Parts: sequence; C-alpha cells; structure tokens
Amino acid sequence: MKAIILFVSLFITLSGCSTQEEGLRKWKDENRLKVLSTIAMIDDLVKDVGGDHISPMTLVRGELDPHSYQLVKGDDEKIGMADLIFCNGLGLEHGASLRESLARNPKAVCLGDLIRKSDPKLILFEQNTPDPHIWMDISVWAKSVPFIVEALSEKDPIHAADYKENGKRLTQKLMNEHTRLRNEMQCVPEEKRYLVTSHDAFNYFARAYLTTDAEKDEGKGHERFAAPEGLSPESQLSTSDIRYILNHIKLYNIKIIFPESNVSQASIRKLINAGNEEKLQLTIAKEPLYGDAMGPPGSEGDSYLKMIQHNVETFKKLLVENGICHDQ
Ligand SMILES: [Zn+2]
Repeated sequence: MKAIILFVSLFITLSGCSTQEEGLRKWKDENRLKVLSTIAMIDDLVKDVGGDHISPMTLVRGELDPHSYQLVKGDDEKIGMADLIFCNGLGLEHGASLRESLARNPKAVCLGDLIRKSDPKLILFEQNTPDPHIWMDISVWAKSVPFIVEALSEKDPIHAADYKENGKRLTQKLMNEHTRLRNEMQCVPEEKRYLVTSHDAFNYFARAYLTTDAEKDEGKGHERFAAPEGLSPESQLSTSDIRYILNHIKLYNIKIIFPESNVSQASIRKLINAGNEEKLQLTIAKEPLYGDAMGPPGSEGDSYLKMIQHNVETFKKLLVENGICHDQ
C-alpha cells in the first residue's frame, strides 16, 4: 500500500513539474510582451490594461503568503524571461530571495512605491513602517493603473493607444465600484463598523469603507480596524498583543472576529479563548475575508474586485440583520 501511495505521489510531483516546465516552455516561445506580476491582485489589473497584447503570469500563486514568499524552482526562469515585472513594493515582498531579485532588477516596476512617491499622503504607516496592503482600498489601487499603462507603453509602443484606453476604462470601473461599496457600507450603523481580523491587512479597507465622512476627511478612524498579528502574518503573538486587542474589543463592544482566507486561525483562536475567559462571548465569522490573496478560481473572490466586494458583503451580512439595510 505504502509503495502505491509513494508511486502516486511521485507521479503527481513529476507531472506537476512537467506541467510547470511545459508552461515555462510555452511562455518562452510567446511573441507577445511577457508580463510577470508578483501577486494576483496586480495581475488582475495588468490583464485588464494589457488585454490580448500581453502574456501575463503571476509569481506568488494561490493562497501563499506574499510577505514571506521565497523563490522556488522555476521562478528564476520566469523572472529572467519576463519583459516586465510588476511588484507591490512598500516592503510587501520581503522574503529575502524575492526581495533581492526585485531590488537589482531593472525590469521591476513596484507600483506601491510609485504611488508613495507621487501621492505620499495615501500611504498608511504602522510604527514608522509603510503598510503595503494598498489593494484593500480600491481608490488607492486605482492609482497604480497609470503606472501600468506607462510601463506597458514604454515596452510596447505600438499598442500604447490601446493601453491608454483600457487604463481609462479600468480606472473608471474601479472608482465607480469604490464609491458604490463605500455607500453600501455606510448603512451599517457607525457604532458597529469595527473590524478585527488575523493580521494588519485591513487598515486601508477600514479607512476607505468603515470610517465616517468626518473621520475620513480628518485622517482619523484608525481604531476602526485592529488585528493581533502585525503587518506580516508570520510574527509571533505575545500576551501583550492579546491584551491590547481584548481592550480594544471591550472598548468598541466588538462581538465577531473575522478570519482571513490564507492565514492560520491560531492567533484569533487564542484571542477568542482569552476573550471567553473574560466572558466576552466572541465568535469567529464562518466566512473568511480575503486579505493577502484572492480566492481560487470559481470562488466568490476569484478576481480583484470580487475579493473586495466579498469583504464588504461578508462584513455587512453579519453586522446588519440579514445583510439588508432598512434605508436602502
Ligand atoms: Zn498582509
């Protein structure tokens, strides 16, 4: 029996490798512009802008953690073959091998770093470290579109007019959706618009969709989101982290804790246990939110906009009875 399992797993591994090699061979022979994006949320925008003129690929696939991602077999080839590489920057890709590979690569365009340079006030900081999760606010993420248009047009000037047109259409679509989701979220009473998840991925989401208009205008409302783990989910949880979040939960009368689709629930379970010892009656939401990764194909979060829509809907559903706002 063991031999059969070993044989089957060896077969799966080998066929996985050959599929990957096959994919790389095909990409090598591709005549169109080869565009590699570090994360799927970037790839989604790049596909919209590039259309049929480009051949896109994502480096950090599925539910892997982009913060700690290290290059694996085949990645060096992808990076080498790509005509253009889009990354998030702002310290997101900090796994040593990927970080070094991007730092010395003239083909790399880190969208978050460009947004920070052109519009510094859009970027949030946690203890003097820039928060890289800019995709969680659609209006900030939309700012990366002109940089994608510019980079594609520079590499492929023949199609520059198409990239410009696609970019314009995409920006419009993103901004419309941003406004719609903010309006929709405003129907959750403001005293309930507090979010707690596993790690610090939702500061931009909170500023964009949970704040009141006055808080947003004055740059306040930071307390609308809190998480036991820091900007990167691999950090260790201390007793003082738990204490800090429990105080926050009590202060704002929070009842539901949201897990994230690609982060272990260990830290929020610790939080729930500690909270229940103090009779806080906390529960974990059944539906996780999408933080650092989109959902798999066919899921509710299998595109960039769908992941943000899912987050808004899931939060709203649990905070407003049946997810229906009476004033709508
Ligand atoms: Zn993150």
